[in-house]
Amino acid sequence: MDSIRVFAGDCTVSFEGSRDRTQRGRVVVVAKPDRTVLVHDAGGYQPVAWLTRADSLTVESGPGSFGLLARAGDQTLTVESNDVTGRAEYPASDAGVPVGSHPDTGDPLVRTNGSVVALDSGTEYRLPAGATVLDETCGDCGLPLMRVERGASFEVCIDRQCDPLDDHVKARLDGEWSCPDCGSPLRIIRRSGRLLAGCDAYPECETAFSLPAGVVVDDCDCGLPTFETSRGRRCLDSTCEGR
Ligand SMILES: [Zn+2]
Ligand SMILES: [Zn+2]
Ligand SMILES: [Zn+2]
Repeated sequence: MDSIRVFAGDCTVSFEGSRDRTQRGRVVVVAKPDRTVLVHDAGGYQPVAWLTRADSLTVESGPGSFGLLARAGDQTLTVESNDVTGRAEYPASDAGVPVGSHPDTGDPLVRTNGSVVALDSGTEYRLPAGATVLDETCGDCGLPLMRVERGASFEVCIDRQCDPLDDHVKARLDGEWSCPDCGSPLRIIRRSGRLLAGCDAYPECETAFSLPAGVVVDDCDCGLPTFETSRGRRCLDSTCEGR
């Protein structure tokens, strides 16, 4: 698991970059796993000095001193301790919205950007774009269910091994529409990680459309389906002007 390192003491803090600045005070320095370094003094929410996602971070931690050197492009942040109050390292995860606990281990589950993560084990269930995690749990494994819109609305386990979304989409939509270029059925396939409605005559016909995150509500003038998505109505063919 990732960890956050914390250093406290009377420090001299130097920033070199767009403008140079040296400060000294009793501060708390936070070094994150992505090499973001934040130097906090007693006031306000904003660090007095910081470097976000540094290209490199060097930490020296001796018995009576510490020092940090972070670089990002032509910017450099240096922290040198004059007197050490304390230092520590704590396990850290991404924070997210609580969505229950793991059925086997009781490990708390949180929804972060694009994933459900088990806090203690670090196990990650990656979510398809636009997925909503539900309060209901999977009848097979007990993990939360998610709602995903791909032509229709599907409620499946967040563990794609347990109940693959692709199987549901195929069962519902495979062969449902015809290729506008050759008339062959459009098959539901996964190619290069994307869920597509692709022509059955592939590779002779290479027509394929990425399935939008939305439900089919109508037919487009071109003959393909119209999807209602969070960004409005659109044809399966993203280049089609029709709705
Ligand atoms: Zn399941
Ligand atoms: Zn075709
Ligand atoms: Zn169209």
